[in-house]
Amino acid sequence: METVTYQREIPVTKTVDVLVIGGGPAGLGAAIGAAKTGAKTLLVERYGFLGGNATASLVGPFMTSFSADGKTQVIRGVFDELVRRMEAMGGAIHPSKVPAAVAKSAYMKHGHTGVTPFDPEAMKLVSAEMCLEYGVELLLHTIFIDPLLDGDAVAGAILHNKGGLQAVRAYTTIDCSADADVAARAGVPFAIGRSSDGLTQPMTMFFRVGNVNGAQVAEYFKEHPEEIEQRMAFSSCIKAAQAKGDFTIPRERLSLYESPQEGVWRVNASRILGTDGTNAADLTRAEIIGRRQVMEILAFLRAYVPGFTHCTLIDTAAQVGVRETRRIVGEYTLTAEDLIAGRDFPDTIAYAAYPMDIHSPTDGGGGVSNKGETADAYQIPFRCLVPRNIERLLVAGRCVSATHEALGAIRVMPPSFAMGEAAGTAAALAAAEGLRPRDVPVSWVQETLVKHGAYLGPSVRPTH
Ligand SMILES: Cc1cc2nc3c(=O)[nH]c(=O)nc-3n(C[C@H](O)[C@H](O)[C@H](O)COP(=O)(O)OP(=O)(O)OC[C@H]3O[C@@H](n4cnc5c(N)ncnc54)[C@H](O)[C@@H]3O)c2cc1C
Repeated sequence: METVTYQREIPVTKTVDVLVIGGGPAGLGAAIGAAKTGAKTLLVERYGFLGGNATASLVGPFMTSFSADGKTQVIRGVFDELVRRMEAMGGAIHPSKVPAAVAKSAYMKHGHTGVTPFDPEAMKLVSAEMCLEYGVELLLHTIFIDPLLDGDAVAGAILHNKGGLQAVRAYTTIDCSADADVAARAGVPFAIGRSSDGLTQPMTMFFRVGNVNGAQVAEYFKEHPEEIEQRMAFSSCIKAAQAKGDFTIPRERLSLYESPQEGVWRVNASRILGTDGTNAADLTRAEIIGRRQVMEILAFLRAYVPGFTHCTLIDTAAQVGVRETRRIVGEYTLTAEDLIAGRDFPDTIAYAAYPMDIHSPTDGGGGVSNKGETADAYQIPFRCLVPRNIERLLVAGRCVSATHEALGAIRVMPPSFAMGEAAGTAAALAAAEGLRPRDVPVSWVQETLVKHGAYLGPSVRPTH
Protein backbone atom coordinates (compact mmCIF):
# COMPACT_ATOMS: atom_id res chain seq x y z
CA MET A 1 0.00 0.00 0.00
CA GLU A 2 1.27 3.48 -0.86
CA THR A 3 1.95 5.67 2.21
CA VAL A 4 2.58 9.38 2.85
CA THR A 5 4.27 11.14 5.75
CA TYR A 6 2.18 13.94 7.21
CA GLN A 7 3.67 16.41 9.69
CA ARG A 8 2.27 19.68 11.06
CA GLU A 9 2.64 22.03 14.01
CA ILE A 10 -0.67 22.28 15.84
CA PRO A 11 -1.84 24.44 18.77
CA VAL A 12 -2.14 23.08 22.31
CA THR A 13 -5.59 24.40 23.14
CA LYS A 14 -6.01 23.13 26.72
CA THR A 15 -4.30 21.49 29.66
CA VAL A 16 -6.48 19.45 32.02
CA ASP A 17 -6.14 16.95 34.85
CA VAL A 18 -8.39 14.36 33.24
CA LEU A 19 -9.25 13.97 29.55
CA VAL A 20 -12.12 11.61 28.73
CA ILE A 21 -12.52 10.39 25.15
CA GLY A 22 -16.08 9.33 24.34
CA GLY A 23 -19.33 10.53 25.93
CA GLY A 24 -21.29 7.27 26.21
CA PRO A 25 -22.26 5.62 29.51
CA ALA A 26 -18.61 4.93 30.43
CA GLY A 27 -17.47 8.42 29.44
CA LEU A 28 -20.29 10.08 31.38
CA GLY A 29 -19.43 8.04 34.46
CA ALA A 30 -15.74 8.85 34.00
CA ALA A 31 -16.13 12.58 33.42
CA ILE A 32 -18.63 13.15 36.22
CA GLY A 33 -16.69 10.84 38.54
CA ALA A 34 -13.46 12.77 37.87
CA ALA A 35 -15.10 16.18 38.29
CA LYS A 36 -16.79 15.10 41.53
CA THR A 37 -13.35 14.06 42.80
CA GLY A 38 -12.03 17.55 42.11
CA ALA A 39 -10.29 17.18 38.74
CA LYS A 40 -10.33 19.74 35.96
CA THR A 41 -12.02 17.50 33.40
CA LEU A 42 -12.60 17.70 29.65
CA LEU A 43 -15.03 15.31 27.91
CA VAL A 44 -14.55 14.92 24.14
CA GLU A 45 -17.34 13.42 22.03
CA ARG A 46 -17.53 13.04 18.24
CA TYR A 47 -21.30 13.57 17.99
CA GLY A 48 -23.28 16.72 18.84
CA PHE A 49 -24.86 15.06 21.89
CA LEU A 50 -23.84 12.73 24.70
CA GLY A 51 -25.07 9.23 25.54
CA GLY A 52 -23.21 6.96 23.10
CA ASN A 53 -25.30 3.91 22.28
CA ALA A 54 -28.07 5.16 24.57
CA THR A 55 -28.76 8.03 22.18
CA ALA A 56 -26.85 7.64 18.90
CA SER A 57 -27.78 3.96 18.51
CA LEU A 58 -31.20 4.20 20.25
CA VAL A 59 -30.15 1.29 22.49
CA GLY A 60 -32.31 0.71 25.54
CA PRO A 61 -33.60 0.11 28.11
CA PHE A 62 -30.62 0.28 30.49
CA MET A 63 -30.20 -3.36 31.39
CA THR A 64 -30.53 -4.41 34.98
CA SER A 65 -28.79 -2.44 37.72
CA PHE A 66 -30.04 -4.91 40.34
CA SER A 67 -28.72 -8.20 41.71
CA ALA A 68 -30.18 -11.25 39.96
CA ASP A 69 -32.56 -11.88 42.89
CA GLY A 70 -33.92 -8.36 42.35
CA LYS A 71 -33.25 -7.39 45.98
CA THR A 72 -30.25 -5.03 45.81
CA GLN A 73 -29.52 -2.18 43.45
CA VAL A 74 -25.83 -2.83 42.78
CA ILE A 75 -25.24 0.00 40.30
CA ARG A 76 -25.91 3.41 41.78
CA GLY A 77 -23.70 6.52 41.79
CA VAL A 78 -23.75 8.59 38.59
CA PHE A 79 -26.06 6.06 36.91
CA ASP A 80 -28.76 6.31 39.56
CA GLU A 81 -28.60 10.11 39.74
CA LEU A 82 -28.99 10.36 35.97
CA VAL A 83 -31.97 7.99 35.97
CA ARG A 84 -33.69 9.87 38.80
CA ARG A 85 -33.19 13.19 37.01
CA MET A 86 -34.67 11.75 33.80
CA GLU A 87 -37.55 10.26 35.79
CA ALA A 88 -38.28 13.68 37.33
CA MET A 89 -38.91 15.07 33.83
CA GLY A 90 -40.98 12.06 32.73
CA GLY A 91 -38.13 10.62 30.64
CA ALA A 92 -37.44 7.37 32.53
CA ILE A 93 -38.87 4.83 34.96
CA HIS A 94 -36.67 3.93 37.92
CA PRO A 95 -35.51 0.28 37.72
CA SER A 96 -36.97 -0.48 41.16
CA LYS A 97 -40.41 -0.16 39.51
CA VAL A 98 -39.81 -2.47 36.53
CA PRO A 99 -40.28 -6.23 37.06
CA ALA A 100 -39.20 -8.98 34.65
CA ALA A 101 -41.51 -10.52 32.03
CA VAL A 102 -43.61 -7.42 31.31
CA ALA A 103 -43.78 -5.18 28.22
CA LYS A 104 -41.03 -2.85 29.51
CA SER A 105 -38.69 -5.82 29.99
CA ALA A 106 -39.57 -7.32 26.59
CA TYR A 107 -41.37 -10.25 28.22
CA MET A 108 -37.95 -11.57 29.23
CA LYS A 109 -37.33 -13.18 32.60
CA HIS A 110 -33.73 -13.87 33.37
CA GLY A 111 -31.58 -10.74 33.78
CA HIS A 112 -34.54 -8.48 33.15
CA THR A 113 -35.67 -7.58 36.67
CA GLY A 114 -34.89 -3.89 37.22
CA VAL A 115 -34.25 -2.61 33.71
CA THR A 116 -34.62 1.15 33.13
CA PRO A 117 -36.85 2.32 30.26
CA PHE A 118 -35.86 5.82 29.19
CA ASP A 119 -36.39 8.38 26.47
CA PRO A 120 -33.21 9.05 24.42
CA GLU A 121 -34.11 12.75 24.17
CA ALA A 122 -34.22 13.01 27.98
CA MET A 123 -30.85 11.24 28.05
CA LYS A 124 -29.28 13.76 25.65
CA LEU A 125 -30.38 16.72 27.73
CA VAL A 126 -29.92 15.38 31.26
CA SER A 127 -26.47 13.90 30.60
CA ALA A 128 -25.18 17.26 29.30
CA GLU A 129 -26.80 19.21 32.16
CA MET A 130 -25.31 16.85 34.73
CA CYS A 131 -21.82 17.19 33.23
CA LEU A 132 -22.06 20.96 33.27
CA GLU A 133 -23.40 21.10 36.83
CA TYR A 134 -20.51 19.00 38.11
CA GLY A 135 -18.02 21.22 36.27
CA VAL A 136 -17.11 18.96 33.34
CA GLU A 137 -16.05 20.96 30.28
CA LEU A 138 -17.67 19.55 27.14
CA LEU A 139 -16.14 19.50 23.67
CA LEU A 140 -18.67 18.00 21.24
CA HIS A 141 -18.27 17.56 17.47
CA THR A 142 -14.67 16.61 18.16
CA ILE A 143 -12.95 13.36 17.28
CA PHE A 144 -9.93 11.76 18.92
CA ILE A 145 -7.15 11.22 16.37
CA ASP A 146 -4.02 10.08 18.22
CA PRO A 147 -2.54 9.95 21.70
CA LEU A 148 0.19 12.44 22.66
CA LEU A 149 2.90 10.12 23.88
CA ASP A 150 5.60 10.98 26.41
CA GLY A 151 7.83 7.92 26.65
CA ASP A 152 5.62 5.10 27.92
CA ALA A 153 2.87 7.50 29.07
CA VAL A 154 -0.16 9.06 27.38
CA ALA A 155 0.14 12.81 27.98
CA GLY A 156 -3.03 13.92 26.20
CA ALA A 157 -4.46 13.66 22.72
CA ILE A 158 -4.55 15.04 19.21
CA LEU A 159 -8.12 15.99 18.37
CA HIS A 160 -9.91 17.21 15.27
CA ASN A 161 -12.98 19.36 14.81
CA LYS A 162 -14.19 22.19 12.58
CA GLY A 163 -11.41 24.35 14.06
CA GLY A 164 -8.80 21.95 12.67
CA LEU A 165 -6.23 19.75 14.38
CA GLN A 166 -5.39 20.60 17.98
CA ALA A 167 -3.73 19.04 21.02
CA VAL A 168 -4.93 18.77 24.61
CA ARG A 169 -2.48 17.96 27.41
CA ALA A 170 -3.79 15.85 30.28
CA TYR A 171 -2.34 14.27 33.40
CA THR A 172 -4.56 11.20 32.92
CA THR A 173 -6.52 10.17 29.83
CA ILE A 174 -9.49 7.78 29.98
CA ASP A 175 -10.42 5.81 26.88
CA CYS A 176 -14.22 5.50 26.77
CA SER A 177 -14.41 5.25 22.97
CA ALA A 178 -15.88 1.70 23.23
CA ASP A 179 -13.41 0.66 20.52
CA ALA A 180 -10.25 1.29 22.60
CA ASP A 181 -9.18 3.86 19.99
CA VAL A 182 -6.78 5.60 22.39
CA ALA A 183 -5.33 2.44 23.87
CA ALA A 184 -4.86 0.73 20.51
CA ARG A 185 -3.08 3.74 19.03
CA ALA A 186 -0.92 4.06 22.14
CA GLY A 187 0.28 0.49 21.63
CA VAL A 188 -1.76 -1.31 24.28
CA PRO A 189 -2.23 -4.96 23.24
CA PHE A 190 -5.84 -5.93 22.50
CA ALA A 191 -8.02 -8.87 21.43
CA ILE A 192 -11.09 -9.00 19.21
CA GLY A 193 -13.94 -11.54 19.18
CA ARG A 194 -14.09 -15.19 20.17
CA SER A 195 -10.81 -16.90 21.00
CA SER A 196 -11.68 -19.71 18.51
CA ASP A 197 -12.12 -17.58 15.36
CA GLY A 198 -12.01 -13.86 16.25
CA LEU A 199 -15.67 -13.38 15.27
CA THR A 200 -17.58 -10.69 17.18
CA GLN A 201 -21.21 -10.36 18.19
CA PRO A 202 -23.43 -9.07 15.35
CA MET A 203 -24.49 -5.45 14.90
CA THR A 204 -28.11 -4.28 15.14
CA MET A 205 -29.92 -1.25 13.75
CA PHE A 206 -32.37 -0.18 16.45
CA PHE A 207 -35.54 1.70 15.59
CA ARG A 208 -38.61 3.02 17.38
CA VAL A 209 -42.25 2.62 16.44
CA GLY A 210 -45.35 4.41 17.71
CA ASN A 211 -49.05 3.60 17.83
CA VAL A 212 -48.55 0.13 19.34
CA ASN A 213 -51.48 -1.48 21.16
CA GLY A 214 -49.88 -2.81 24.35
CA ALA A 215 -53.05 -4.58 25.49
CA GLN A 216 -52.98 -6.77 22.39
CA VAL A 217 -49.31 -7.59 22.98
CA ALA A 218 -50.15 -8.59 26.57
CA GLU A 219 -53.00 -10.76 25.28
CA TYR A 220 -50.55 -12.52 22.92
CA PHE A 221 -48.28 -13.46 25.83
CA LYS A 222 -51.25 -14.76 27.84
CA GLU A 223 -51.79 -17.15 24.93
CA HIS A 224 -48.05 -17.92 24.56
CA PRO A 225 -46.59 -18.12 28.11
CA GLU A 226 -44.16 -20.75 26.81
CA GLU A 227 -42.39 -18.05 24.75
CA ILE A 228 -41.54 -16.24 28.00
CA GLU A 229 -40.48 -19.45 29.72
CA GLN A 230 -38.36 -20.56 26.76
CA ARG A 231 -36.88 -17.09 26.12
CA MET A 232 -38.35 -17.12 22.60
CA ALA A 233 -40.56 -14.01 22.49
CA PHE A 234 -42.57 -13.71 19.28
CA SER A 235 -40.96 -16.85 17.82
CA SER A 236 -44.31 -18.17 16.58
CA CYS A 237 -44.83 -14.89 14.64
CA ILE A 238 -41.35 -15.28 13.13
CA LYS A 239 -42.02 -18.89 12.14
CA ALA A 240 -45.31 -17.94 10.46
CA ALA A 241 -43.59 -15.18 8.48
CA GLN A 242 -40.61 -17.39 7.57
CA ALA A 243 -43.00 -20.00 6.15
CA LYS A 244 -44.22 -17.39 3.69
CA GLY A 245 -40.78 -15.91 2.98
CA ASP A 246 -41.67 -12.68 4.80
CA PHE A 247 -38.87 -12.76 7.38
CA THR A 248 -35.30 -13.27 6.17
CA ILE A 249 -33.42 -11.66 9.11
CA PRO A 250 -31.18 -14.18 10.92
CA ARG A 251 -32.97 -13.89 14.26
CA GLU A 252 -35.08 -16.49 16.06
CA ARG A 253 -36.77 -14.22 18.64
CA LEU A 254 -37.47 -10.50 19.06
CA SER A 255 -36.68 -8.01 21.83
CA LEU A 256 -39.47 -5.42 21.69
CA TYR A 257 -39.44 -3.01 24.62
CA GLU A 258 -42.28 -0.70 25.62
CA SER A 259 -40.83 2.75 26.35
CA PRO A 260 -41.97 5.28 28.99
CA GLN A 261 -44.09 7.01 26.32
CA GLU A 262 -47.56 5.64 25.58
CA GLY A 263 -47.56 3.37 22.51
CA VAL A 264 -43.86 3.86 21.71
CA TRP A 265 -41.70 0.71 21.53
CA ARG A 266 -38.01 0.12 20.79
CA VAL A 267 -37.28 -2.63 18.32
CA ASN A 268 -34.13 -4.70 18.84
CA ALA A 269 -34.64 -7.16 15.99
CA SER A 270 -32.22 -6.56 13.13
CA ARG A 271 -29.02 -8.62 12.91
CA ILE A 272 -26.03 -7.83 10.74
CA LEU A 273 -23.46 -10.62 10.62
CA GLY A 274 -19.82 -10.61 9.54
CA THR A 275 -18.95 -6.93 10.10
CA ASP A 276 -16.02 -5.41 12.00
CA GLY A 277 -16.82 -2.23 13.94
CA THR A 278 -13.27 -0.92 13.56
CA ASN A 279 -13.48 -1.05 9.76
CA ALA A 280 -15.23 1.95 8.11
CA ALA A 281 -16.13 -0.02 4.98
CA ASP A 282 -17.87 -2.65 7.13
CA LEU A 283 -19.63 0.05 9.16
CA THR A 284 -20.85 1.66 5.95
CA ARG A 285 -22.23 -1.67 4.73
CA ALA A 286 -23.84 -2.31 8.13
CA GLU A 287 -25.68 1.04 8.08
CA ILE A 288 -27.19 0.19 4.69
CA ILE A 289 -28.07 -3.43 5.52
CA GLY A 290 -29.45 -2.28 8.87
CA ARG A 291 -31.88 0.22 7.36
CA ARG A 292 -33.00 -2.32 4.74
CA GLN A 293 -33.67 -4.78 7.58
CA VAL A 294 -35.69 -2.13 9.43
CA MET A 295 -38.11 -1.87 6.50
CA GLU A 296 -38.50 -5.65 6.33
CA ILE A 297 -39.07 -5.88 10.09
CA LEU A 298 -41.58 -3.03 9.99
CA ALA A 299 -43.66 -4.82 7.34
CA PHE A 300 -43.38 -8.05 9.36
CA LEU A 301 -44.49 -6.36 12.60
CA ARG A 302 -47.55 -4.89 10.88
CA ALA A 303 -48.51 -8.17 9.22
CA TYR A 304 -47.67 -10.77 11.87
CA VAL A 305 -47.31 -9.32 15.40
CA PRO A 306 -50.45 -8.63 17.47
CA GLY A 307 -50.57 -5.04 18.70
CA PHE A 308 -48.25 -3.76 15.95
CA THR A 309 -50.76 -3.78 13.06
CA HIS A 310 -50.98 0.02 12.89
CA CYS A 311 -47.49 0.89 14.13
CA THR A 312 -45.65 3.84 12.60
CA LEU A 313 -41.90 4.26 12.18
CA ILE A 314 -40.60 7.06 14.45
CA ASP A 315 -36.87 6.86 13.72
CA THR A 316 -33.92 4.63 13.00
CA ALA A 317 -30.72 5.05 15.01
CA ALA A 318 -28.20 7.66 13.85
CA GLN A 319 -25.58 4.93 14.07
CA VAL A 320 -25.77 1.15 13.79
CA GLY A 321 -25.34 -0.53 17.17
CA VAL A 322 -21.94 -2.21 17.55
CA ARG A 323 -21.89 -4.83 20.30
CA GLU A 324 -18.23 -5.71 20.34
CA THR A 325 -14.84 -4.65 18.97
CA ARG A 326 -11.43 -4.35 20.71
CA ARG A 327 -10.89 -5.49 24.29
CA ILE A 328 -7.66 -4.23 25.80
CA VAL A 329 -5.24 -6.53 27.55
CA GLY A 330 -5.08 -5.09 31.04
CA GLU A 331 -3.49 -6.03 34.33
CA TYR A 332 -6.31 -8.52 34.86
CA THR A 333 -8.64 -10.16 32.33
CA LEU A 334 -12.11 -10.86 33.71
CA THR A 335 -13.41 -14.34 32.82
CA ALA A 336 -16.74 -16.17 32.70
CA GLU A 337 -15.55 -18.28 35.63
CA ASP A 338 -15.12 -15.12 37.74
CA LEU A 339 -18.71 -14.10 37.02
CA ILE A 340 -20.10 -17.57 37.66
CA ALA A 341 -18.22 -17.95 40.96
CA GLY A 342 -18.97 -14.34 42.01
CA ARG A 343 -15.27 -14.11 42.78
CA ASP A 344 -14.13 -11.65 45.45
CA PHE A 345 -11.44 -9.22 44.28
CA PRO A 346 -9.50 -7.00 46.69
CA ASP A 347 -9.61 -4.21 44.08
CA THR A 348 -13.33 -4.37 43.25
CA ILE A 349 -14.58 -1.10 41.81
CA ALA A 350 -18.03 -2.19 40.63
CA TYR A 351 -20.69 -4.86 41.11
CA ALA A 352 -23.00 -5.98 38.31
CA ALA A 353 -25.45 -8.79 37.70
CA TYR A 354 -26.45 -8.84 34.04
CA PRO A 355 -25.94 -12.38 32.68
CA MET A 356 -23.69 -13.33 29.77
CA ASP A 357 -25.58 -12.22 26.67
CA ILE A 358 -23.79 -13.38 23.55
CA HIS A 359 -25.65 -13.05 20.25
CA SER A 360 -24.32 -15.56 17.77
CA PRO A 361 -21.83 -14.09 15.27
CA THR A 362 -22.95 -16.63 12.65
CA ASP A 363 -26.73 -17.18 12.90
CA GLY A 364 -29.97 -16.08 14.56
CA GLY A 365 -29.34 -17.69 17.96
CA GLY A 366 -27.71 -16.69 21.24
CA GLY A 367 -28.58 -13.87 23.61
CA VAL A 368 -29.38 -14.09 27.32
CA SER A 369 -29.82 -17.69 28.37
CA ASN A 370 -32.40 -18.76 30.93
CA LYS A 371 -29.91 -20.85 32.84
CA GLY A 372 -28.85 -18.19 35.32
CA GLU A 373 -25.27 -19.33 35.43
CA THR A 374 -23.71 -16.07 36.70
CA ALA A 375 -23.63 -15.22 40.42
CA ASP A 376 -26.38 -13.19 42.05
CA ALA A 377 -23.96 -10.25 41.73
CA TYR A 378 -20.38 -10.37 40.51
CA GLN A 379 -17.42 -8.01 40.89
CA ILE A 380 -15.24 -6.08 38.43
CA PRO A 381 -11.67 -5.40 39.57
CA PHE A 382 -9.81 -2.11 38.99
CA ARG A 383 -7.02 -3.98 37.15
CA CYS A 384 -9.41 -4.59 34.20
CA LEU A 385 -9.31 -0.83 33.57
CA VAL A 386 -5.51 -0.56 33.73
CA PRO A 387 -3.81 -1.29 30.39
CA ARG A 388 -0.58 -3.22 30.17
CA ASN A 389 2.56 -1.39 28.98
CA ILE A 390 1.23 2.20 28.97
CA GLU A 391 0.98 4.68 31.86
CA ARG A 392 -1.42 7.56 32.63
CA LEU A 393 -4.16 5.85 30.64
CA LEU A 394 -7.27 4.10 31.96
CA VAL A 395 -9.98 2.36 29.94
CA ALA A 396 -13.67 1.99 30.79
CA GLY A 397 -16.83 0.57 29.21
CA ARG A 398 -17.09 -1.88 26.37
CA CYS A 399 -13.35 -2.13 25.70
CA VAL A 400 -12.01 -3.15 29.13
CA SER A 401 -9.91 -6.23 29.78
CA ALA A 402 -12.29 -9.20 29.73
CA THR A 403 -12.76 -12.36 27.72
CA HIS A 404 -15.35 -12.40 24.92
CA GLU A 405 -17.68 -14.32 27.29
CA ALA A 406 -17.26 -12.03 30.33
CA LEU A 407 -17.61 -8.96 28.14
CA GLY A 408 -20.95 -10.42 26.99
CA ALA A 409 -22.19 -9.59 30.52
CA ILE A 410 -20.39 -6.41 31.60
CA ARG A 411 -20.72 -4.62 28.22
CA VAL A 412 -24.22 -3.31 28.99
CA MET A 413 -24.81 0.29 29.99
CA PRO A 414 -25.19 0.25 33.81
CA PRO A 415 -21.83 -1.55 34.38
CA SER A 416 -20.28 0.80 31.80
CA PHE A 417 -21.39 3.79 33.90
CA ALA A 418 -19.96 2.13 37.02
CA MET A 419 -16.62 1.25 35.40
CA GLY A 420 -16.40 4.79 34.03
CA GLU A 421 -17.09 6.35 37.41
CA ALA A 422 -14.33 4.24 38.95
CA ALA A 423 -11.86 5.17 36.20
CA GLY A 424 -12.72 8.87 36.57
CA THR A 425 -12.30 8.73 40.33
CA ALA A 426 -8.92 6.96 40.06
CA ALA A 427 -7.75 9.34 37.31
CA ALA A 428 -8.61 12.37 39.44
CA LEU A 429 -6.87 10.95 42.50
CA ALA A 430 -3.80 10.16 40.37
CA ALA A 431 -3.69 13.73 39.03
CA ALA A 432 -4.14 15.24 42.51
CA GLU A 433 -1.35 13.15 44.04
CA GLY A 434 0.99 13.02 41.03
CA LEU A 435 0.73 9.23 40.89
CA ARG A 436 0.46 6.77 38.02
CA PRO A 437 -3.17 5.53 37.99
CA ARG A 438 -1.97 1.98 38.67
CA ASP A 439 -0.25 3.23 41.86
CA VAL A 440 -3.30 4.95 43.36
CA PRO A 441 -4.22 2.91 46.46
CA VAL A 442 -7.44 1.13 45.50
CA SER A 443 -8.85 1.75 48.98
CA TRP A 444 -8.85 5.50 48.13
CA VAL A 445 -10.79 4.83 44.95
CA GLN A 446 -13.25 2.54 46.73
CA GLU A 447 -13.83 4.97 49.61
CA THR A 448 -14.35 7.91 47.26
CA LEU A 449 -16.76 5.91 45.09
CA VAL A 450 -18.83 4.89 48.09
CA LYS A 451 -18.78 8.45 49.44
CA HIS A 452 -20.15 9.54 46.04
CA GLY A 453 -23.02 7.03 46.22
CA ALA A 454 -21.65 3.91 44.48
CA TYR A 455 -22.34 0.41 45.81
CA LEU A 456 -19.32 -1.77 46.51
CA GLY A 457 -20.89 -4.55 48.49
CA PRO A 458 -21.82 -4.73 52.14
CA SER A 459 -18.22 -4.47 53.42
CA VAL A 460 -16.96 -1.18 51.91
CA ARG A 461 -18.12 1.89 53.81
CA PRO A 462 -16.97 5.49 53.41
CA THR A 463 -14.43 6.58 56.03
CA HIS A 464 -14.29 10.29 55.25
C1 LIG B 1 -27.49 -3.69 19.36
C2 LIG B 1 -27.14 -3.47 20.78
C3 LIG B 1 -28.06 -3.76 21.79
C4 LIG B 1 -27.75 -3.51 23.11
N1 LIG B 1 -28.71 -3.65 24.06
C5 LIG B 1 -28.49 -3.13 25.29
C6 LIG B 1 -29.57 -2.93 26.18
O1 LIG B 1 -30.72 -3.22 25.87
N2 LIG B 1 -29.28 -2.39 27.40
C7 LIG B 1 -28.02 -2.06 27.79
O2 LIG B 1 -27.84 -1.60 28.91
N3 LIG B 1 -26.99 -2.22 26.94
C8 LIG B 1 -27.20 -2.72 25.70
N4 LIG B 1 -26.18 -2.80 24.79
C9 LIG B 1 -24.79 -2.56 25.21
C10 LIG B 1 -24.42 -1.11 25.41
O3 LIG B 1 -25.17 -0.24 24.58
C11 LIG B 1 -22.94 -0.79 25.18
O4 LIG B 1 -22.11 -1.86 25.40
C12 LIG B 1 -22.58 0.41 26.05
O5 LIG B 1 -23.23 1.54 25.48
C13 LIG B 1 -21.11 0.62 26.18
O6 LIG B 1 -20.86 1.90 26.72
P1 LIG B 1 -19.57 2.69 26.29
O7 LIG B 1 -19.66 4.03 26.94
O8 LIG B 1 -18.38 1.85 26.51
O9 LIG B 1 -19.70 2.83 24.70
P2 LIG B 1 -20.68 3.68 23.77
O10 LIG B 1 -22.04 3.71 24.31
O11 LIG B 1 -20.50 3.10 22.42
O12 LIG B 1 -20.08 5.14 23.81
C14 LIG B 1 -18.85 5.45 23.18
C15 LIG B 1 -18.82 6.94 22.87
O13 LIG B 1 -17.54 7.31 22.38
C16 LIG B 1 -17.68 8.14 21.22
N5 LIG B 1 -16.48 7.94 20.42
C17 LIG B 1 -16.05 6.77 19.89
N6 LIG B 1 -14.89 6.94 19.25
C18 LIG B 1 -14.58 8.27 19.37
C19 LIG B 1 -13.49 9.05 18.92
N7 LIG B 1 -12.48 8.50 18.22
N8 LIG B 1 -13.49 10.37 19.21
C20 LIG B 1 -14.52 10.93 19.93
N9 LIG B 1 -15.57 10.21 20.39
C21 LIG B 1 -15.59 8.90 20.12
C22 LIG B 1 -18.95 7.62 20.58
O14 LIG B 1 -19.52 8.56 19.71
C23 LIG B 1 -19.82 7.33 21.79
O15 LIG B 1 -20.55 8.46 22.22
C24 LIG B 1 -26.46 -3.04 23.45
C25 LIG B 1 -25.53 -2.77 22.46
C26 LIG B 1 -25.86 -2.96 21.14
C27 LIG B 1 -24.89 -2.59 20.08
